[in-house]
Amino acid sequence: MDRPVVDHRSPEFAQLTEDVRVGLRSVFGTREGAPMLYPASGTGATEAALVNVLRPGDRVLCFNYGVFSAGMGVIARKFGFEVDEVPLRWGQALPVDDLEQRLKADSPTNPYRAVLVVHNETSTGVTCDIAAIREAMDAAGHDALLIVDTVSSLGSIEFLMDDWRVDIIICGSQKGLMMPPGLGILGVSRRALALAAQGGGSPRYFWDWEPIMRENRIGLFPYTPATLMLFGLREALRMLVDEEGLDNVYARHRRLADGVRAAVSAWGLRTVCEDPLTASNTITAVWTPDGFDSNELINHARERYELSLGGGIGPLKGHVIRIGHLGSLNELEVLGTIGGVELSFADLAYGIQTGAGLLACQQSFLGARERVDSALAAAV
Ligand code: PLP
Repeated sequence: MDRPVVDHRSPEFAQLTEDVRVGLRSVFGTREGAPMLYPASGTGATEAALVNVLRPGDRVLCFNYGVFSAGMGVIARKFGFEVDEVPLRWGQALPVDDLEQRLKADSPTNPYRAVLVVHNETSTGVTCDIAAIREAMDAAGHDALLIVDTVSSLGSIEFLMDDWRVDIIICGSQKGLMMPPGLGILGVSRRALALAAQGGGSPRYFWDWEPIMRENRIGLFPYTPATLMLFGLREALRMLVDEEGLDNVYARHRRLADGVRAAVSAWGLRTVCEDPLTASNTITAVWTPDGFDSNELINHARERYELSLGGGIGPLKGHVIRIGHLGSLNELEVLGTIGGVELSFADLAYGIQTGAGLLACQQSFLGARERVDSALAAAV
């Protein structure tokens, strides 16, 4: 990325555009889905997803299980879509039985046009099962669009757009894709593209897929793209897809997340995520003990150890720390983080045994390695 800006109408740039589109398809898990790239962020990508396929007055179904799932409803309301929002506990994953019942009971004359889902709720550290959501939609015989925010999961937690028949994937550059912020990214199914092309959607210009598709076909964009970001994205996609391999990337995230969860449990603290089967492999949100302000811990960790932790958002503010473990990350960096949290606990007299989390995390990593070694030995 650190290079002179190139002409975004040159042959070199056309090749770059094509390479990025091919790499994104691999990470989306699609052969036919169309990547869209905007000089924007995840929020812009969300707006782009909605305005290309939904009209004012269209009914959409969403579930509120954290800041970002609630946010999809907020954005949808701004455009005049009729939003049915189901409140859940923050820490819960989207309950697929409930989704199925609601879709079965839907109005035959004015049905939901879309179901809006956040794959990985970054505020609570909960991952929803998109395959099960698709099954529930099929079981209800409902043909609403399935629109999924993957901002904090894409490139870190397996995603299979074609197998799960996801209509639109929403993402940004700054998390699992290991880039700075600055790109809003979509993966769009043929079905969603056709809907938009047949006069669907709301008034739009910047977000409109039609000119993007037309220009991308010849390696161009309808307006100035984030040129240098695309060089970075091509390299990030090569690292994920060609060098490490997506299966290994997902396994690494699982291994690192297991280590963090082992530490949290050794500290005797609870995760916001209620069901371990839905625990996120990219972020762990942890309740701080009663009587301790999590913001104080976060500020202390930053000032004393240059350790950047996430805070609780919305109603979780002051009660939760969030440990991120995604992207370009390895075992030693996770151990550094766990060690820094433990030092901060000690400095602020949390009464948590220093070293307990580090030991549990190391044992988790060693156990994962032994499991891989014995699986390899059994295979030979
Ligand atoms: N959705 C999720 C799940 C997120 O984690 C975020 C940001 O962290 C967003 C949406 C918003 O993305 P952005 O901040 O890139 O606009």
